Amino acid sequence: MAKLAAGTRLVVASHNPGKVWEIRQLLAPYGLDAISAGDLDLAEPEETATTFVGNAQLKAVAAAEGSGLPALADDSGLEVKCLDGAPGIYSARWAGPGKDFGVAMKKVADEITARNGWETPPRANFISVLCLAWPSGETRVFEGRVFGHLVWPPRGGNGFGYDPMFVADGASDTFGEMEPAAKYAISHRTRAFAQFKSEMLDQIAPNESASGASEGDRDAFFAAAASLSTRPELAAFVARLRGDLADHGRDWGNATLEDFLESLSRELSVDAKSDGPAWRQVAHALLAASAKR
Ligand code: IMP
Repeated sequence: MAKLAAGTRLVVASHNPGKVWEIRQLLAPYGLDAISAGDLDLAEPEETATTFVGNAQLKAVAAAEGSGLPALADDSGLEVKCLDGAPGIYSARWAGPGKDFGVAMKKVADEITARNGWETPPRANFISVLCLAWPSGETRVFEGRVFGHLVWPPRGGNGFGYDPMFVADGASDTFGEMEPAAKYAISHRTRAFAQFKSEMLDQIAPNESASGASEGDRDAFFAAAASLSTRPELAAFVARLRGDLADHGRDWGNATLEDFLESLSRELSVDAKSDGPAWRQVAHALLAASAKR
């Protein structure tokens, strides 16, 4: 299989802004021109396969065929040992149509209780499978896992999904309590990317100073708003907005309290532009009200 060269246009086969942002961050130092399937208006295929590998392949192949460009897809989830690997490929679906991971985490906890699984800390792992597909239909798969155990109740407002109930081996904080950089240093996705990099990008010298988006970048905020679903996550988001105002206030179209509140009341009086839990809609309204560039 051909390797990827600097400057190659690569489709990130996802419509999830959080995931697209994360993948762009990882690719940026290699000079790859990453564009999302959503930006290209590519249809989102149904995840009908029964394995992580199958679903990652299905998404990557559909995007490569639809765009005529190489495409990278990721499929990931949480596997709980005493639940025979559930929620597994259904990790996103356990959160229901509202994509509420408070609901999904409670469901995991309840299923473990039903199996008397809390007597010792229940073993679990996150898994990430990356698939690179070429328009010819050729594919290559890379896997990463992080092992640990679950806790209940959930702890921490960082990260997303099942992070607040997962403690990685060797750590005492949950992924939800860890700083993002500490999580990414050991995460399943980082491990899958490490393999992808060593096999597909080893000939490109990374420019470590090149980054897809700085902390103050609007895309990073958009991605965070699009993936949060709990009250603590919203609290962490608001604290981050507050920090951004202090550091990058000149980029805010509405940097005074009066302008911000006026715009916020306008945002809240029109129909929600995002689906999902109310906390996520509040985050979107706050971000829109800032008129951040
Ligand atoms: P996908 O979009 O089909 O890959 O869905 C993956 C789902 O697995 C997400 O919606 C999360 O619920 C869960 N998941 C995957 N990676 C993580 C992680 O790093 N932290 C928490 N949950 C995760």
